[in-house]
Amino acid sequence: MLIDKPIFEPSEWKLTKQQKQLCEETRIIASKKFEKRAAKYDLDATFPSENYSDLYEHNLMGICIPKEYGGRDADLKTYMLAASEIGRYCGATALTFNMHVSSCLWTGFLSDQLEMDKDTRKEHHKMREMHYERILKKGSIYAQPFSEGNASAAGKTAFGTIALRTEKGWIVNGKKIFASLSGHANYYGVLCTELLEINSKPSRSNTMYIAIPAHQKGVRVEGDWDPLGMRGTVSRTLIFEDVFIPFEEQLMPRGIYYNAAKQWPHMFMTLTPSYVGIAQACYDFTVRYLRGEQPGMSPVKRRMYPTKQLTVAQIKIILEQTKSIWYQSISEAKPNPSKEQLMRAWAAQYSVMENVNEIARLAIRTCGGQSMLKSQPLERFYRDSRCGALMLPWTAELCMDMLGKGALYEQGESDES
Ligand SMILES: Cc1cc2nc3c(=O)[nH]c(=O)nc-3n(C[C@H](O)[C@H](O)[C@H](O)COP(=O)(O)OP(=O)(O)OC[C@H]3O[C@@H](n4cnc5c(N)ncnc54)[C@H](O)[C@@H]3O)c2cc1C
Repeated sequence: MLIDKPIFEPSEWKLTKQQKQLCEETRIIASKKFEKRAAKYDLDATFPSENYSDLYEHNLMGICIPKEYGGRDADLKTYMLAASEIGRYCGATALTFNMHVSSCLWTGFLSDQLEMDKDTRKEHHKMREMHYERILKKGSIYAQPFSEGNASAAGKTAFGTIALRTEKGWIVNGKKIFASLSGHANYYGVLCTELLEINSKPSRSNTMYIAIPAHQKGVRVEGDWDPLGMRGTVSRTLIFEDVFIPFEEQLMPRGIYYNAAKQWPHMFMTLTPSYVGIAQACYDFTVRYLRGEQPGMSPVKRRMYPTKQLTVAQIKIILEQTKSIWYQSISEAKPNPSKEQLMRAWAAQYSVMENVNEIARLAIRTCGGQSMLKSQPLERFYRDSRCGALMLPWTAELCMDMLGKGALYEQGESDES
């Protein structure tokens, strides 16, 4: 099988040696192994377990674990570039992989750049050593269930999942919806609100980030999973009923997640690489199909029709625009970005999540009826591509909301009397 060219050609996009290497690894594994399994995971709405065995075997589960712990030491940008190559061949694998990798990014690259006093830093290093060891030595998978169906995942209120502090740990009660990897992760990296007393008022500044072992007493997965797209993510509902969690299961010391989320807004862009990959896959498919080179289809050429050429041009323009703003935004990601950088991040998120669906729509319209049969991947790309804009905290709507306000108001300005 031919392996496609990189989404970001290393010399043209000035990738580092490490970025080039990791993108090549993910591109090869995903195109050789994940692509052929993607249709089945999608059809059955089952978790891509075999792909995870491959990721572990190829030493990629610790892609963002710092070098001193034995990981591959990728920073935010490097990870996002490498993950886009996975999304190109299996969107659901890339999206779930993101949930796993996020636990390493929050606790590794991101928190290493935050200020912490010496004792907190020491405590943090001790905690993460345990989590990293599980990932690297046992192949443990970490999920990232934040959403609760209320305003908390949008960053507007405290999480309704409550961790009541006791002498030896917490008693956790709550519910998480859309928990990708549910029933398949070994640990759920849960955001919850710590309460010191049962009747105290929940506050966002008491957000805790803790790892709940999947088999801990009181943890339950419930509900069906039969969605439109991203079906292999198996994002069912998680219930926590009086789950006891010892203190050492924290992923970050108390208070640190809240600061990290405020200071590192670009972290919320980690949901985009899967969709950058799908956008590229739609373009690749369209070109192959119109040239009569799509495997499994009769070699009929359609490229000579002017209307098809025009649509391919339109797709290419949208793809290049999307890649460019995304690349700029992930290149300038840093703690406490400027207002312009933050607004560009929202614009980049919006562009990826909306444009991928537009590209998929144009690809189906121009390739024609046979291209949307289930025997071809384009109809899956189309369905998967619709999911990106719905993902909190930066849904397409919320990005527009923040951009509009950001453009018209400076800090402290208000028209309310
Ligand atoms: C395939 C897939 C996988 C997912 N995997 C995960 C996962 O692993 N972990 C995870 O945590 N989540 C995951 N999600 C969930 C996702 O991030 C969203 O939380 C979810 O789609 C929200 O669904 P909802 O219907 O509750 O959304 P909405 O109703 O749109 O939003 C929920 C709440 O947010 C607030 N809100 C929404 N829009 C606005 C607005 N414009 N202005 C102000 N407030 C607003 C409102 O209070 C609203 O009630 C996944 C989603 C999908 C589709």
